[in-house]
Amino acid sequence: MKIIMLGAPGAGKGTQAKQIASAYQIPHISTGDIFRANIKNKTPLGQKAKEYMDAGNLVPDELTCDLLMDRIGQDDCRDGFILDGFPRTIPQAQALDQALTARKESMDFAVNVDVPDENIIRRMSGRRVCPNCGATYHLTALPPTKAGTCDACGSELVQRADDSEATVANRLRVYHEQTQPLIDYYERLGILKTVDGTQPMDVVFAQIKAVLGKELEVSNVESRCD
Ligand SMILES: [Zn+2]
Repeated sequence: MKIIMLGAPGAGKGTQAKQIASAYQIPHISTGDIFRANIKNKTPLGQKAKEYMDAGNLVPDELTCDLLMDRIGQDDCRDGFILDGFPRTIPQAQALDQALTARKESMDFAVNVDVPDENIIRRMSGRRVCPNCGATYHLTALPPTKAGTCDACGSELVQRADDSEATVANRLRVYHEQTQPLIDYYERLGILKTVDGTQPMDVVFAQIKAVLGKELEVSNVESRCD
């Protein structure tokens, strides 16, 4: 089963991707992990990627796609894999499709964890952390006993710059510009499955399993006929 995870930053798609990977025993693949592994092992592709990164440039789509194709060609991906964070743009999606087609393969599902922007902004901008002991809180979901004060050590809680409303809104804007078109792209390919990401995490996961499970039963029947 080959799955792409889609969803806005803060929608919880990474958490869901890890759960799917563990439930279906397929590797969870993120481009960050691939870059790190190839650079660490000094592979030719990794060294090319490192040159771009060291110069402060983005790694070109084609090179990223080559690295990805190399990763999903490894033995542990035989029964499928789940992509988290790639593709992010239409050109990346097209490069992936072309590379898979050359191998007579294709993606099976694009799972979209759908959460409205206002929910994401509420989730993220309510986060508070303790700069002293690292404890995390949320203004509404997990408030400290005394407002603004860490329960564990009594320090004053702060908001990470990353969690400020302006930063979150900016990340969402980039997401809508670059990644949202992928939702239409996979819809047209007929492999898009959208789940309601505003639900608690275990409910979202149950929705994903229900969507994927139906197809799994079908593929089991097919493999029995072989
Ligand atoms: Zn603390």
